[in-house]
This record gives sequence, structure tokens and C-alpha cells, in this order.
Amino acid sequence: MAEALAGRAAKIIGILRKTYGKAECALHHKNPFQLAVSTILSAQCTDKRVNMVTPSLFKKYPTPKHFAKAPQSAIETMVRSTGFYKNKAKAIKGLSQKLISEHGGKVPKTLEALVKLPGIGRKTANVILGVAFDIPGIVVDTHVTRLTNRMGLTKQKDPVKIEFEMMKIFPRKDWNDFGLIFIQHGRAICPARKPKCEVCPVNAFCPKVGL
Ligand code: SF4
Repeated sequence: MAEALAGRAAKIIGILRKTYGKAECALHHKNPFQLAVSTILSAQCTDKRVNMVTPSLFKKYPTPKHFAKAPQSAIETMVRSTGFYKNKAKAIKGLSQKLISEHGGKVPKTLEALVKLPGIGRKTANVILGVAFDIPGIVVDTHVTRLTNRMGLTKQKDPVKIEFEMMKIFPRKDWNDFGLIFIQHGRAICPARKPKCEVCPVNAFCPKVGL
């Protein structure tokens, strides 16, 4: 049973990898800190919008030190168009202060340390580990939750439980690609409403085809 599931999962990720090519993070960034800030801004916001905001933001505040010293209201003004701007500005300032006080101004490289930082949950921590440091981690967002359920890879709805189940099904070498590729597939072919099953490249392996 578990072997059959792993076999189907391998076929699915193989096909999706061929379909979408190399998995890339769509958020523009030049270092782990910029990725952390961009990921905080991407909550409930499109990557495209975040990428419009970050060039001027990082020009004005290039390091954690600059953000830590900036008035929160000034950060709020610059990130306003990404939505939930008060919370996001507070998280970015808090993150910067904590990086300086506890990590020498650098983004830490472990899940345990990352999730203790303001604005960084498990999902964001796994994005940072995978994209910035190439450390294997499974990213579970709403797309991944929906797709793994539709594809019959899990019955769980809780992101942390899904993360642990996917770690058993997918080999470590696929963990980083997995989240990015599934998110891409969710956006392109399998959105929450009206999935395009007829043109879906993995429809032969999906029990919810024709949903
Ligand atoms: S077959 Fe349909 S439900 Fe299944 S992954 Fe493809 S688009 Fe989504």
C-alpha cells in the first residue's frame, strides 16, 4: 500500500517536473534575509505584487539593521499594497531586531531556530531552508494541501501532518522541488475552483480527475 502510494507519487512528481521544468521560487531576492522578508509579504498576496514592492523596499532598507532602526510606520507605507501591511511591517521589524540580537544579523539555517522568529511559520521556514540554503524541507501551503488531498496522497487537512506524511512518501531529494512544483501546478491547472482535469498532465494518476 505504502509502496504503491510512493510509486504513484514518484510518477506524479516526475511528470510535473517535466511539465514545469526546474522548480524556481517566484519571489525575487538576493540573499536569505530578502527571501524571508519577501515570504512574509507574500501572505495573502501574489508573488507578482511582492516583486513590485521589494526593489524599492530593499534599496531603502538593505539589511536587518536598517529595518530594525526604521519606524514601523515607514515600513507600513512601503508595504501597504501587499495587504495586512500593519502586521507584515511589525513582523519584518521584529524579525530584523531578533536576527540582530540573537543571530548576529544572519538568517539561521535550522527549522527550530527559524520558527522562533517573528513572522516565520513552518511553511516560511521550509521555503527559506529549501530555496536559500538548499536544505531539504517540505513546504505545505493551501495549494499543496488541496492537491495532495485531490491526488489521494493524504487525507489530512492539517499542514504539519501533511508535511510529515509527504516526508514518508517522497524521497529527500524531491522535498524542495515538491512544494514549488505543486504550488505551480495548483496555480496553473488545479486551482480550488474549476480544475482543468482534461488537460492535466497527471490526470492518469489522480483519483479526483473530472472533479
Ligand atoms: S486531475 Fe484534476 S483534480 Fe487531479 S491534479 Fe489534475 S487538475 Fe487536479
